[in-house]
Amino acid sequence: MKYLQILFLFGFTVFSASDIHQYKSVHFCSGKYAVIRTFTQGYKQLQLSVNPRTLQTHIEPRIQAEEHACTASPYATLLTRNNMSPYPLQNDGTVHIHKGITLTTDLCPSSKSGFEKGLYEAMISRFPNPVPVTLFITGRWIKKHPDAFHQFTQWEKEEKLVITWGNHTYTHPYHPKEALSKNFSLSKGYDLEEDTLKLEKLLIAKGITPSVFFRFPGLVSNQKAMQIIRDLGLITIGSDTWIAKGQKVKEGSIILLHGNKNEPKGVEMFLEILRKGNIKKLNSLDKVLP
Ligand SMILES: [Zn+2]
Repeated sequence: MKYLQILFLFGFTVFSASDIHQYKSVHFCSGKYAVIRTFTQGYKQLQLSVNPRTLQTHIEPRIQAEEHACTASPYATLLTRNNMSPYPLQNDGTVHIHKGITLTTDLCPSSKSGFEKGLYEAMISRFPNPVPVTLFITGRWIKKHPDAFHQFTQWEKEEKLVITWGNHTYTHPYHPKEALSKNFSLSKGYDLEEDTLKLEKLLIAKGITPSVFFRFPGLVSNQKAMQIIRDLGLITIGSDTWIAKGQKVKEGSIILLHGNKNEPKGVEMFLEILRKGNIKKLNSLDKVLP
């Protein structure tokens, strides 16, 4: 067989090093860590695990250590506490941290070009670097804003920001005319689990380790949706300080802003708070642990 023919045949089976296969949600502990996903990337067998005391996530080779059931830990406690009755339709989950103030910015799909670059630059110049910030990011936003996405990864490399990569689903469905109870993740025919894992796979393919934090599109959920996210080992994060809605920053605030230019009013209000010097320091979202 000629060389070119061989190359042609193999072209269909050789995959790139970043391709993710056999991505599975799992639940077991191995050594000190809770393993929540297993997958292959290229030819490597990998796992995504959580440190159950700090909530830090890691991607590492599949360890052949003995698998065992997970015992009591701050992570397990948070997962349980996070999923309790009465399951409000909006803003369920954890809405404040135990120490300081934390900033979360949502990157929902947007037809606007660019992003709120000035917001992140203001934080970089105002606070000691790297500044902790959580991005609740969507796949559709990443696909439409490759330059902005690249800028975030650059800020991380330059140690200007330390980013917690939160999951806001891949597609973030939204139907302007539907009631909330049938909208966002509760839309008819929507597969929440599949769409959540799809965003994780995209991040991993781009060299990023997904965090253990999740935010529902529109902050809208029900009991079933909350349980799907818990079963994926993720912590649902709401907000007690949605700046554009006039909620005031206080000790324990989880601030919500939109970094996608869809809510400039909230960003302007936050920049004014920064100018007044009313926030001395930002904490990372893992302060949801006591
Ligand atoms: Zn959103």
